Amino acid sequence: MPPSRKTIVEPSRKTTVCRETEVLVVGGGPAGVAAAIAAARNGANTTLVERYNHLGGMATGGLVILIPHMSAGTRVQEVAGICQEMVDRLDAVGAARHPSRELLGSTNSAAVNELKHYHDFVVGGRVRMSAIVDPEILKCVLNEMVVEAGVNLYLHSWGAAALVDGKRVIGAIFESKSGRQAILGDLTIDATGDGDMLASAGAEFDGVVDRNARSGMLAVVFRVGDVDYRKYSDFRHSKPEEFRAAMAEIQSASGFRMLPIAAHRDDQVWVNNWVPGYDCLKVEDLTAAEIQVRKAMRAAHKILKTKVPGFERSFILDTASQIGTRGSRRLAGDYVVTAEDLKRGVVYPDTIAAIPRFQENVSAASPNRCIPYRALLPRAAEGLLVAGRCFSSDAAANDVLNLIPFCMQMGEAAGTAAALSLKGHVAPRFLPHDALQKQLRAQGVWLPEIPRLDKASGSLTTRPDGIAAEPHRS
Ligand SMILES: Cc1cc2nc3c(=O)[nH]c(=O)nc-3n(C[C@H](O)[C@H](O)[C@H](O)COP(=O)(O)OP(=O)(O)OC[C@H]3O[C@@H](n4cnc5c(N)ncnc54)[C@H](O)[C@@H]3O)c2cc1C
Repeated sequence: MPPSRKTIVEPSRKTTVCRETEVLVVGGGPAGVAAAIAAARNGANTTLVERYNHLGGMATGGLVILIPHMSAGTRVQEVAGICQEMVDRLDAVGAARHPSRELLGSTNSAAVNELKHYHDFVVGGRVRMSAIVDPEILKCVLNEMVVEAGVNLYLHSWGAAALVDGKRVIGAIFESKSGRQAILGDLTIDATGDGDMLASAGAEFDGVVDRNARSGMLAVVFRVGDVDYRKYSDFRHSKPEEFRAAMAEIQSASGFRMLPIAAHRDDQVWVNNWVPGYDCLKVEDLTAAEIQVRKAMRAAHKILKTKVPGFERSFILDTASQIGTRGSRRLAGDYVVTAEDLKRGVVYPDTIAAIPRFQENVSAASPNRCIPYRALLPRAAEGLLVAGRCFSSDAAANDVLNLIPFCMQMGEAAGTAAALSLKGHVAPRFLPHDALQKQLRAQGVWLPEIPRLDKASGSLTTRPDGIAAEPHRS
């Protein structure tokens, strides 16, 4: 039967305001956690609302346990701040695997030969920072970080709608076992990944997703245990054709691509997958994808067990409690980051995050890419910031920049900006960029040299490699 198009009118009702807060963050994934911690540490009374029973979003519930590209193959580590602090805390309890920081940029052949077994630990023959984490311990670590920062945390709480007064977002309604309640916030940060709050606030967004791109595909990640990862990795490197044939067989049995990737320990892998043809904002599609992948997973595991060295004794350990959605609504913000910007390596006057190159080493000719603060600000709506994969970007730029470490960078910037705006009694749009950048640097965030306006000529300074900086267009 086709879906019904009938509508009903719900009776109006009074909703209890269960909390009033300075900064309300909706969504407790990588971006939301970093936003809430940064806002609270900067003195704002902060509340974080998350629909599931844990924090971390894709990095925990989604079993996406690879936090890649934190550096570009030089000694500089571009992604630091709260993301690195999280990795340090995991390290302290033996729950992360990554190259040692002393090795960053090294071409030492013994180190490179060892580390190349692990996804994204080596780029262009040089060691780079990427971390693989234990998702269950990460849930605990994120709880600790949020609680220590003094954030008021609401788990099991689904943000249902933004509360809007004119053009101003004044909080959100959420649903939980306690019923429908409201939280009023001086500033709200949408970190739902899908931009649920920005859409319900009436902020402009682009919902067009390229269904053939990585970010147009859904996934249900699963982990396989009792694996001999090094045997599998040796097979992959030494017999690439046989490896490709096994993966092709899995693809043909499943109907979509799957890839086992290193976990934080060598007796496990996580199996990434790319499932085309579904819309992550349609409940019928989400349901169908869950059913399709779990069915395909069992067929794929049989092939892994019989055809791929290292999987002989393996078993299916678990499946993601959170469906994998990569691309969704993207804010149409004060600035839209484009693929062309990334190609040119634009450094914006309001840069709040530097993204290391993925494939090549950074050099004057091959610069970092950046994210400007304006990409977190809706055009018309006030009282709202956006952080994470729904930031303002075209589809191609989003496909590259929506990874976990970069979402954490955006979250840290959004939370810091919200707190500074409240402290300074200015709307986030009018927060001086240099004050935000200064505070981010003080928090351990790495930012490149920022182009400044040359008052005499009225033009922006250019980078030493001659790449023009983007003028401020707010
Ligand atoms: C299968 C897959 C593989 C990937 N591989 C990698 C990889 O290897 N490395 C990498 O860095 N990135 C990878 N990515 C991308 C990356 O995981 C995401 O882009 C990133 O997690 C986005 O962070 P976020 O905080 O913006 O959103 P999310 O991680 O989606 O977090 C959003 C959070 O908000 C919560 N939420 C959503 N809606 C509501 C609501 N209405 N009310 C309350 N809470 C809500 C969610 O439960 C979740 O906790 C992958 C993604 C997928 C799906």
